[in-house]
Amino acid sequence: MNDPTEPTKSHGRISIRASSKPRDLMEEPRLVKGAWVAKVITLLPEAFPGTLGLSLTGKALDFGLWRLEAIDLRTFGEGRHRNVDDTPAGGGAGMVLRADVVDAALRQTAEGTPPDRARWPVIYLSPRGKPFDQATARRFAGCEGITLLCGRFEGVDQRVLDHHQIEEVSLGDFVLTGGEIAAQAMLDATVRLLPGVLGNAASTVEESFSDGLLEHPQYTRPAIWEGQDIPAVLQSGNHAEIAKWRRAEAETLTRARRPDMWEKRIK
Ligand code: SAH
Repeated sequence: MNDPTEPTKSHGRISIRASSKPRDLMEEPRLVKGAWVAKVITLLPEAFPGTLGLSLTGKALDFGLWRLEAIDLRTFGEGRHRNVDDTPAGGGAGMVLRADVVDAALRQTAEGTPPDRARWPVIYLSPRGKPFDQATARRFAGCEGITLLCGRFEGVDQRVLDHHQIEEVSLGDFVLTGGEIAAQAMLDATVRLLPGVLGNAASTVEESFSDGLLEHPQYTRPAIWEGQDIPAVLQSGNHAEIAKWRRAEAETLTRARRPDMWEKRIK
């Protein structure tokens, strides 16, 4: 299992292919042995990798530090029109994703993954789920991989969620039109914790939430901007004083903005 708290762990590259064409990030075979895998079941596979294909997460994907598979739910649909949804039992607005269709997608996606949910969580993105947070990102990063089921319309037939012991996780207290953006947000937060993804592993130790505090304010050049100086202590070169100042700022900020986090800390 990957240990996200161990930033120096390196993966061995097992193969490098020469290619004249630009690489398709989604189709690239696994380059690194034991790389973390995300499998996303979605009606919108073209939404992936999306922003995950850019910047740090994209480079990590390109280097094979993690792998992304988008599974098109439509291909498991019923009949000539590949129907995936139907009207809600008991009436009401909208459509619900069918249990049999989602089941077929989950079964195929599970091939080659461990059935132990602690090693490989199977998640349904859902506003009813437990709110996603940094601890959840850390837990996901410590697994071998993850399967994410993106809902659409009114959601998914409850029976298939129960049958597959699916965990529901929410991006927050609001309703999106589908699970894809939530899946990308959670994958971004998780992938950046994988060994080798961030250039500076220390930055995941000091940032917001990692020790129950929001991060202190950051400054950079120019030294004076719109008549405002950078706090003098940050330019003092005194590292002990700088650490003390940052700590105090982080505490003040957390207390003011997130009394819930502050309460938890002092308990
Ligand atoms: N009728 C549902 C909402 C359906 S929204 C309800 O009231 O609970 C359609 C899909 O978008 C959901 O199936 C889910 O996969 C996704 N979604 C919406 N809001 C979300 C959130 N806050 N977090 C994660 N996924 C969400």
